Amino acid sequence: MGQFFPKERKSIQNLRKTEESIDWLRSWKVTLFSLLEAVPVNLRPLIASISIDGTSATTIIIDSNSGEPLWRPFLYNESCPDALPVVKSIAPANHTVCSGTSTLCKLVSWWNTEGENRESALLLHQADWLLWLLHGKLGLSDYNNALKVGYDPELESYPPWLLSQPYSQLLPSVQAPGTSIGYLKEGIRTEFGFPKDCVVCTGTTDSIAAFLAARATEPGKAVTSLGSTLAIKLLSTSRIEDARFGVYSHRLDDKWLVGGASNTGGAVLRQIFTDEQLEKLSEHIDPMEVSPLDYYPLQVVGERFPVADPKMVPRLHPRPQSDVEYLHGILESIARIEAKGYSLLKDMGATQVDEVFTAGGGAKNEKWTKIRERVLGLPVSRAIQTEAAYGAALLALKGAQAQHNEQ
Ligand code: ADP
Repeated sequence: MGQFFPKERKSIQNLRKTEESIDWLRSWKVTLFSLLEAVPVNLRPLIASISIDGTSATTIIIDSNSGEPLWRPFLYNESCPDALPVVKSIAPANHTVCSGTSTLCKLVSWWNTEGENRESALLLHQADWLLWLLHGKLGLSDYNNALKVGYDPELESYPPWLLSQPYSQLLPSVQAPGTSIGYLKEGIRTEFGFPKDCVVCTGTTDSIAAFLAARATEPGKAVTSLGSTLAIKLLSTSRIEDARFGVYSHRLDDKWLVGGASNTGGAVLRQIFTDEQLEKLSEHIDPMEVSPLDYYPLQVVGERFPVADPKMVPRLHPRPQSDVEYLHGILESIARIEAKGYSLLKDMGATQVDEVFTAGGGAKNEKWTKIRERVLGLPVSRAIQTEAAYGAALLALKGAQAQHNEQ
């Protein structure tokens, strides 16, 4: 750790001890190579292409000469409020970067603290750094990961307000996700027995990779994630943004992946019922029957999407005597919030949703799926694949196909 992270930052010293003492980069590297090791030996010669998804806004600053990190990584949820006023003063109002956890705030915070190594520094996201270990070409990213540092995927460049800043020299160059960058480093290839022409492709963020896994490839197809919270993602021909609701669009080739996340979701269910109870009680729900109960299930006060109201109070009363009726009311209320979410995206100008795939813990509840079909008025089904790794593999396939067509 000492060699990896020569300096400590004053402003991060209040981080929890456990977080400080974890050598993140080493653990990510070890995990990557143990995954390569886990590929069965007989399959390794068949691996044509590799891509990786990483946590959005997890930021690494390295020395462009040595490749050594200049700081410990800024984790995705780490906030740099010290940089926020500066970022707000240079970026357009309500831009994605105007949040303390954005990659740009992390970069500005580092730039303003660091005196010595600015000249040779380079910024990478988690996926970029891991991919660099495989292809060896420094300074490359993809337009999904680069969105939160300020990259404009429509202009296909960093905007002028960012390029005029002294730290713009740290920004990586950007490609479409799933672009072949080069061959796997020879040392790794020979050590593990991957083929000579195995290519390494640019990646994406975790949540986009999970969307890609569901193979919702046409405009109007959407994925609702019913995990601890409710998140919706819709493939649209138009780009929409509204910071008030936390709505923004990621580019996916010639389309836009539009998303919003509500604070409602499975976490509230878990506060009231165990997973076993959820299963048992759900068996007795008639999904064709309309529940008269109208709740707004939240864990704590405050909602962002589809209603922007930081003071919204959770509504889970009146509680009927029957737990089946209670659960029915909660599931139906969450379905109404989901429907409102899709209708808000449409009102903002996104393509109208026509089919919904479901991911997350709630996807296995068939009664809920039927309730949602009725409330949304759309076909709803469980996504066959929901693992982000599957989405990253599809990006690798895209890169390999493009490479093949070029030859
Ligand atoms: P996350 O990864 O966001 O923590 P998961 O995708 O693992 O969440 O989903 C967990 C959630 O799924 C829990 O909050 C739980 O309430 C919900 N869940 C589990 N089983 C069921 C079920 N049978 N019906 C509805 N929701 C369920």
